[in-house]
Amino acid sequence: MSGIRLSKINKYFDKNHILKDVDLTIEEGDFMTLLGPSGCGKTTTLRVITGLENPEEGIMTINGKEMINGAKNHYTPPSKRGLNLVFQSYALWPHMTVFDNVAFGLAINKMPKSEIRSKVESALEKMRISKYKDRYPSELSGGQQQRVAIARAIVTEPKILLLDEPLSNLDAKLRLEMRAELKRLHRELKTTIIYVTHDQVEALTLSTKIAIFFEGNLVQVDTPRNIYRHPADLRVADFIGNPKINFVDADCTYHNGMLMTESELGKLAIPCTQPPSGKVVLSIYPEDIRISAEKVENGIPLRIYSVMPAGSETLIQTTSNGENLILVKVIGELDYDIGKMVWVTFPLDKVNVYDKQTGILVN
Ligand code: ATP
Repeated sequence: MSGIRLSKINKYFDKNHILKDVDLTIEEGDFMTLLGPSGCGKTTTLRVITGLENPEEGIMTINGKEMINGAKNHYTPPSKRGLNLVFQSYALWPHMTVFDNVAFGLAINKMPKSEIRSKVESALEKMRISKYKDRYPSELSGGQQQRVAIARAIVTEPKILLLDEPLSNLDAKLRLEMRAELKRLHRELKTTIIYVTHDQVEALTLSTKIAIFFEGNLVQVDTPRNIYRHPADLRVADFIGNPKINFVDADCTYHNGMLMTESELGKLAIPCTQPPSGKVVLSIYPEDIRISAEKVENGIPLRIYSVMPAGSETLIQTTSNGENLILVKVIGELDYDIGKMVWVTFPLDKVNVYDKQTGILVN
């Protein structure tokens, strides 16, 4: 019974239903990222877990112990949940050195001085900020301050670390650096981490599991790979992927587990577990499409709409009718004249099929 279990969590702010029947299991050692667009309920879920918000309904256990039971009006206070939260604004004490900021949580627990020193030094080392230990926060960069905030959180050796958009105040370069640090830290500490972000690349890079929210509903929980390859519905598919996935409307017929589709991507026969209710939407990532200037077998003829070089890769928009664009991503530099005819191919197993009416993945 280890880990955190949320069951049928419902949270309202006034009359607004913010979390809707949220069921989520976070196993010990998971790096679980709560992902979704702004306002979907990620932070509220984190605050419910910590005890900063109480849901009206639902049950939460940590390692089998009941922390929340809405029906019994039982809410274990935040300090008794064994969690440690780092907020987006990392709020270091400005009048304390880095060492004292990190030591603060231990000092108030009346730990012997020698033990405090060794624990703080080890946390500073883990975050690679030992050399700044005598500086004040105002003498540090944003990234260094962020590392201090995380050192302060890990020094108390929490079983579960909660991070709410910890990298959002950093510039792109530092963010990348800190992502690598967090990933390393998780491997090293083996702590359970619950992480909130609206940045899908960050989620895909860091997590062992991702939970995707839309409008207070938990829509999909899975490994980054499965979320990327098989988004459960059109909203998730539209949210994941950079550049965005291509969507193509298709007519279809279903027979004996096989879906025959007809669209701008030609005629396809796709194995399909359940018949869709009507039309379907096909999706394929830009990087899964090959492009050729010569006619190729099974190639779909399209015309070049625009070519966008982006350093190490080239993004190419193609079209059959000048309206619907199909984006192709090619590694390296490639140039085509606008309007030129090209042929595209793609592996059939990289195509996902969604029921156009319900938006749900059907293959
Ligand atoms: P973001 O990425 O923008 O931080 P989020 O997914 O973390 O968004 P939440 O902060 O959980 O979203 O908010 C979910 C919804 O609840 C939003 O519509 C928000 O306006 C609302 N909300 C959050 N806190 C309160 C509050 N204290 N009182 C009233 N409404 C609130």
